[in-house]
Amino acid sequence: MPMTNSRMESGLAGPDPDRRPAFPDGLPFVRPPVPPFERVAARLESSYRHGQLTNGPLVRELEAVSADRLQVAHVVAVASCTAGLMLAFRALEPTGPVILPSFTFSASAHAVAWVGARPRFIECDPATFLADLDDGRLYVDGAGALLITHIFGAPAAPRAWEELATAAGIPLVFDAAHALGSRHADRPIGGFGDAEVFSLSPTKPVIAGEGGLVATNRDDVAEVIRIGRDYGNPGDYDTRFVGLNARMSEFHAATALESLAELDDHLVVRSALAARYREQLVDVAGIRVQVPAPGDESTWKDFTIAVDAPEFGATRDQLVVALALEGVDTRCYFDPPVHRQQSHAASADRPLPITDRVASEVLSLPLYRDLLPTDLDRVVSVIADVGKLATARSGA
Ligand SMILES: *Cc1c(COP(=O)(O)O)cnc(C)c1O
Repeated sequence: MPMTNSRMESGLAGPDPDRRPAFPDGLPFVRPPVPPFERVAARLESSYRHGQLTNGPLVRELEAVSADRLQVAHVVAVASCTAGLMLAFRALEPTGPVILPSFTFSASAHAVAWVGARPRFIECDPATFLADLDDGRLYVDGAGALLITHIFGAPAAPRAWEELATAAGIPLVFDAAHALGSRHADRPIGGFGDAEVFSLSPTKPVIAGEGGLVATNRDDVAEVIRIGRDYGNPGDYDTRFVGLNARMSEFHAATALESLAELDDHLVVRSALAARYREQLVDVAGIRVQVPAPGDESTWKDFTIAVDAPEFGATRDQLVVALALEGVDTRCYFDPPVHRQQSHAASADRPLPITDRVASEVLSLPLYRDLLPTDLDRVVSVIADVGKLATARSGA
């Protein structure tokens, strides 16, 4: 679209609409942290030459290395986080609706619905974007399980949710899709609740291309997931239940192993970039940033801000357009929230005004291993300028 027109459409036309954008070649939202190809190829070679293409020694190694890192009894590698969540609920057999936040990725709710359970959506906290514990307590009566997401990698108060689950006598699963590398109370995310499920898809901190890891300290849960990823077949072809094909291939395991080996270095970079964003954005009126609880460590899978339109001077949507005009690609995670999506609107049986508001305010900014700090600074100055200009125009 022609720049001048769109600048005007955004309602934020600057004094010189024809000047060059801040990023003439564009700044992407995400760049998957691919490990060196030669290392992945070398890692894969033996399995490949032996014709072991799926669920072979590399998958076993990935499971062992991740169980060690996460300090859990079992890690079962699966084809995706979504399949891992489905199998976790297949193992835990919730006997009533599953409580989960609406402010999460759709797949959390999909997994619940695929096992025949009904999602019961709760509110999120507008400061942390995490599932609201008080709302959870209020709606836990009659629930069959809890599914809590570590949003953008920030640990979701896992011990408090464990206490609630224990008091209610129901299982607790964490959607840890964003959180491979996050820590709470000096423990890795992975060992909380009855199971935690990670994603290895391309936008996550550790990547396989596609893939998931189910971490659990429960032998019975691990066993059902191992059988369940293989059609429900424990090896004798007498399937015990209706399973899936959710195996992980050796190709994916090779990539994941190399990606996992880089994780600690990767996290240092991510957390430095997040700190740089925070330090600068704290001075921009009307912008909130997600802050993990004291002592917690996030992977910063996404760096997400919330725009308070009256204070900032422009809406989140106007900021999206203004950033796009400067070449900056962003995402509105998670808008629409799940209870507003066509797939789940029917099970949304109460209004969720806080979630609606948060969803309309959030914006995830570029953050990846090779993002230049100077580019990050330029993104922040675009945001600050939009706010200043909009405030000046409204005569504030
Ligand atoms: C990416 C994501 C998933 C789905 O992961 P897949 O591996 O793509 O199935 C589930 N939950 C959340 C919160 C996610 O961000």
